Amino acid sequence: ALKTPEQYEESLRKLKLKVYLQGELVENPVDHPIIRPSMNSVKKTYELAQKPEYADLMTAVSHLTGEKVNRFCHLHQSTGDLVNKVKMQRLLGQQTAACFQRCVGMDAINAVDSVTFEMDQKLGTNYHERFNQFLLKMQQEDWTVDGAMTDPKGDRSLAPSKQADPDLYVHVVEKRQDGIVVRGAKAHQTGAINSHWILVMPTIAMGKDDAEYALSFAAPADAEGIFYIYGRQSCDTRKLEGGKIDVGNSEFGGHEALMVFDDVFVPWENVFMCGEAEFSGLLVERFAGYHRQSYGGCKVGVGDVLIGAAAVAAEYNGAAKASHVKDKLIEMTHLNETLYACGIACSAEGHKTASGNYLINLLLANVCKQNVTRYPYEIARLAEDIAGGLMVTMPSEKDLHNPEIGKVVEKYFKGVSDVPMEQRMRILRLVENLTLGTAAVGYRTESMHGAGSPQAQRIMIARQGNLEQKKQLAKAIAGITQDKAN
Ligand code: SF4
Ligand code: FE
Repeated sequence: ALKTPEQYEESLRKLKLKVYLQGELVENPVDHPIIRPSMNSVKKTYELAQKPEYADLMTAVSHLTGEKVNRFCHLHQSTGDLVNKVKMQRLLGQQTAACFQRCVGMDAINAVDSVTFEMDQKLGTNYHERFNQFLLKMQQEDWTVDGAMTDPKGDRSLAPSKQADPDLYVHVVEKRQDGIVVRGAKAHQTGAINSHWILVMPTIAMGKDDAEYALSFAAPADAEGIFYIYGRQSCDTRKLEGGKIDVGNSEFGGHEALMVFDDVFVPWENVFMCGEAEFSGLLVERFAGYHRQSYGGCKVGVGDVLIGAAAVAAEYNGAAKASHVKDKLIEMTHLNETLYACGIACSAEGHKTASGNYLINLLLANVCKQNVTRYPYEIARLAEDIAGGLMVTMPSEKDLHNPEIGKVVEKYFKGVSDVPMEQRMRILRLVENLTLGTAAVGYRTESMHGAGSPQAQRIMIARQGNLEQKKQLAKAIAGITQDKAN
């Protein structure tokens, strides 16, 4: 059944999460001023699912039960589902201007579903049935699940089993009759503090020597032995000042955390891969593929807000009619819609897997993400160009509201005469938030490294690009029937 946004918030309050933030244990993450905006973003995924006008995008029919579920808990049953996923992400990006975090779980369940099915077929294991039981509970409870892939990785030149410290990749330290004990950590975990469950996957393709690291399992977010260290964001402590303007986006945000598994027990029913190293690469490839598709939705929605903010800033400056400003807004739109086109294309060109759910076109999903490593930076550059230097030199909202100097700030930082300075301050702070502040984590650096750094996509593009076929095409047109003289 769908949870209401209020039920979601209440369910988080019941979790006994162990979270450290700035060196201290957090008593109540839900109401912590630094964390709360990120919770609001996830809450939005519950709120919009309740609205009839968004039902097509936000909900879907479960293939397990035939019941309505939140799309974030759904296995894609068609290319239409894949397209709707991207549209849903754009919508949420537009409404939050932040990372709404819930996609990593959706991408993880879709990857684990098809890979466990294929693994069982080849190896005679029974992971898929276990996974279905987990998925059923996830759908019934409308859980936010945190897909967890990225290990700390230590020395990148060494395989997991060759690291000086054996815990730099999550691994099994004990196999028992009733389950396994795992140790290690996952880094950069999007939405970890706002999730009910964690779905762990391996982070790279592995060989036989690394079998103890070839691991996928689910665990409650507050399981014994799991704790979190909250990631710092640029300008995060502005949220402690109590104002609403200087933060740029006072309601929404995202977060990442280091998730530590300090000898966590996982019963066998929640283990979906344990030692099958030959399948770890496939799981990575599929999860990454889905998440590279995801960015063709969420980053585009956030981009929509940034383009709008730049246009409003130009109006408030009195520069909106300048032809170069108009042209820059066209360029930003062109770049943003190119990302969307990639997200839609890899979805429309998707196909059915052996387990029955739908996978995106991997080549196009990787091209999508490769563009995401560049275009948001260019869009941000153009937004800063249009906004002007005031976005980084402006006094604070406290100065504006100070009885003595407020008048001075209003007078000298006013743009067009009929727009109050406070509105100009608000829109410029939003541009700052997205390009340099807390939201730049999601819009910029995550665009570079999230869902895999640029080189990871280039490897996939090389693998999927079918260069041999292209050479044959060229030879046929050029009339080359044999390569070498004999
Ligand atoms: Fe979803 Fe985008 Fe956040 Fe990833 S970065 S979790 S795709 S909103
Ligand atoms: Fe991400």
